[in-house]
Amino acid sequence: MAEKKEHKIITSDAAKTASSKGVAAQQIAQSTVGLRIGSVVLWIVALVAEFLAIKASFIPAPAEDEEATLFMGMAPFTALIVFLVIDLICVIAGSLLWKKANHIHPASEKNALTFWLWNNLGVIMAAVAFIPFIILLLTNKNADQKTKTVGTIVAVVAMLIAGFSSYDYNPYSAEEQQEILKMEEATSTVFWTEGGKVFHIYEDCQHLNQSEELHQTTTQEAEQAGKERLCKTCLKRHEKEVAETPAEVSEEGQSALEEASETVKNAVESTAEEVKDEVEEAVEE
Ligand SMILES: [Zn+2]
Repeated sequence: MAEKKEHKIITSDAAKTASSKGVAAQQIAQSTVGLRIGSVVLWIVALVAEFLAIKASFIPAPAEDEEATLFMGMAPFTALIVFLVIDLICVIAGSLLWKKANHIHPASEKNALTFWLWNNLGVIMAAVAFIPFIILLLTNKNADQKTKTVGTIVAVVAMLIAGFSSYDYNPYSAEEQQEILKMEEATSTVFWTEGGKVFHIYEDCQHLNQSEELHQTTTQEAEQAGKERLCKTCLKRHEKEVAETPAEVSEEGQSALEEASETVKNAVESTAEEVKDEVEEAVEE
């Protein structure tokens, strides 16, 4: 067998942008474990802060001649406000990380309720981080009027701020990501030679071994350059690779099966066309 030649690749401008990995492909390859752990830790800190704010609100007001009891080095009312602010910051920060993770690894929108809950876990956390505090403060017989009024207003405002900034106004779904991925894959580049009739998926296709200069373009450009169809060897190899990629979720098995049968159908059709072409060529000669 002849030695394989080094290729000089001429990449078209359209192919340059297409050959860089697509957004969806990059997202799928990325891990969101760190982001999810980060948001859960921040939400736990928020709940601890809420708990401390509740504790501060339960410290009875000192009698006239008594010195005020300090809570963690602060006057109880100051401590209450400080912990509510920490609570607010942690809920929002946790929700931002959570939303970021959802926009990298989105949930499926097949079940509308779980999709909403998963995307808006931050909104639920905002409620959990302030409602118990508000209820306990309002029902607290020991708390004075000022603490009750100001504490409730601060907590309600904080809950609204946390809720609105935790809500995902532009949710992204797994289905949307798959669509984008398909589009990205469809615009992937192909290789061809000046003299060849076909285009190739793989730069290292055996039929390109003897070619010095390769053009790397989009499929559309290859067709415009007169490359009529995809190389048979590349097609077989691509199908084999697709078949070897395991279906991700069993639920998706059905659609994968449909896709596979579609691919086989297309392959059979294109092979039939090739045979027809070859017969015609032979007849011409
Ligand atoms: Zn090929």
